[in-house]
Amino acid sequence: MTAEVEYTEQPVEAATTPKPAVLVVEDEQNIRELVCLHLGLENYDCVQAGDGEQALKLARSRSFDLVILDVMLPGLDGVTVCRAIRRDSANPDVPVLMLTARREESDKVVGLESGADDYLTKPFGVRELVARVRALLRRGPKPLVASAASKEVAKAIAYKHIEMDPARRRVRVGITDVDLTSNEFHLLYVLLSSPGIVFSREALLSRVWKDQTFVTVRSVDTLIKRLRKKIESNPAEPEVILTVWGAGYKAADV
Ligand code: CA
Repeated sequence: MTAEVEYTEQPVEAATTPKPAVLVVEDEQNIRELVCLHLGLENYDCVQAGDGEQALKLARSRSFDLVILDVMLPGLDGVTVCRAIRRDSANPDVPVLMLTARREESDKVVGLESGADDYLTKPFGVRELVARVRALLRRGPKPLVASAASKEVAKAIAYKHIEMDPARRRVRVGITDVDLTSNEFHLLYVLLSSPGIVFSREALLSRVWKDQTFVTVRSVDTLIKRLRKKIESNPAEPEVILTVWGAGYKAADV
């Protein structure tokens, strides 16, 4: 038996609350074990993978509540693994926290529609890691149907040539299906549900990101940029999501 015995479920806790399952993908053994040690202390159930292939195999074989994914991996890199998890696994909506070594990698993670929900730049503090993990788990996998239930009834909507079906989390632009992350989907849904209404960045933050702690109004701009690339025919001259200078964003009046 190995040290992993320490993390086996305590009968009492197992009977009341199941531990959230976290897939930790990191080729550097020290970091991987450190992450698992601390998440274990927080009562998370960690499964370790040392490379992308192994991670994908695991993600296809069972469900996880969260994936922590290093960007620089031997073989399949983290961004590729993340896309594959979104596209073809048992965990298409799982929150993904990316670990990046450098600022440039962070930009890549945020900018290239990797599908990550959040990222941490190495070296990171354990408390910050735990806080991010908690925030992502609190939000959970439900993209829109549950989180928006309080305010919007998650019904299908059509706006110009765009159709959104929250129940299936499907977006069609013209005749093309478009892949959106949870946050992208939710943001677009909020805007298209109320064409012509101007939403401030703060309003969008509170509606789309809700409980997530480590976001700023700049996250809204970043997400809008990514969304435009996916849905606008010319992202440089958007016709769907318009910038209202000094105020925020709105969907153009139909
Ligand atoms: Ca690495």
